[in-house]
Amino acid sequence: MVKLFQIKRIIGYMIGFFLFYAPFALYQKTFYALMGVTEYADIHDFCLRIPLEHIWQGRIFQSFTVSAFSILLCLSAAFFFGAVFCGRLCIVGSIGEYLSRLLPDRFQIDWVRYLSPVPVRYGILTGFFLSPFLGGYLACAYCGYRLVEAASIYIFLGEVTILPSSVLFTGMLWLLVFGIFTKGGRGFCNYMCPVGAAQNAMHWLGCRFSFVWRIQIDAAHCLQCGQCVRVCPMQTLQIDQGELRYDSQHCITCMQCREACPTKCITYGPEKGKV
Ligand code: SF4
Ligand code: SF4
Repeated sequence: MVKLFQIKRIIGYMIGFFLFYAPFALYQKTFYALMGVTEYADIHDFCLRIPLEHIWQGRIFQSFTVSAFSILLCLSAAFFFGAVFCGRLCIVGSIGEYLSRLLPDRFQIDWVRYLSPVPVRYGILTGFFLSPFLGGYLACAYCGYRLVEAASIYIFLGEVTILPSSVLFTGMLWLLVFGIFTKGGRGFCNYMCPVGAAQNAMHWLGCRFSFVWRIQIDAAHCLQCGQCVRVCPMQTLQIDQGELRYDSQHCITCMQCREACPTKCITYGPEKGKV
């Protein structure tokens, strides 16, 4: 059952890759076809920063682009269902997670024990929103998505993309420091990704409403066995002083905890009352 679940996750990430990254970028190409425009489609079109930049430059009417539509779609989904883009479709986060499985735990750093991701990721998100006002290229200079696209273009078209050293530095953080050498392999998602932070902020707002789907833990049936803690790639779940703690502010709704729980006391759905 767990294996089938993991296969479905990998299929989801592959779908995300073909949807968003050149030379495929099927999501952007479909959008352009519906709009009747001919544009080169790549991950840049999907960037959440672009509508802000258009507004800043006074090009308000130009701001309804594929990126503006995407930000609305992604944040609305997060409001109602959590960070589903991260947990189901984002290949950047998944690469770090799967790479980290190659190295035994004892060689990996559990960053979350030393530094809470929540203030850091919201700080990065604030910087991301300010970047169009500070200089549009700032966010692009540290973008992990560009590396995946450069690799994709090289593999499928044989073309080499020249990247700035800051992107290569980001890649080193993403794959090595926060990837293979980090417990769970999602240090990049936890500390550096503004897309994930924006979704968690939206879901935090959504969770004020009982109809919104969320992760819930029935404490009465929890054995505190730690199975969920071991599989959580974001270190969102921790057992602290004999109690299981969950922080929705950096959960990617990947459902690995729910699948691993022997008593099925972790559920996902509308609010059930006291849990
Ligand atoms: S896996 Fe289930 S029973 Fe075990 S600690 Fe997590 S929630 Fe509790
Ligand atoms: S708490 Fe569960 S759903 Fe959230 S990131 Fe961890 S394993 Fe995934």
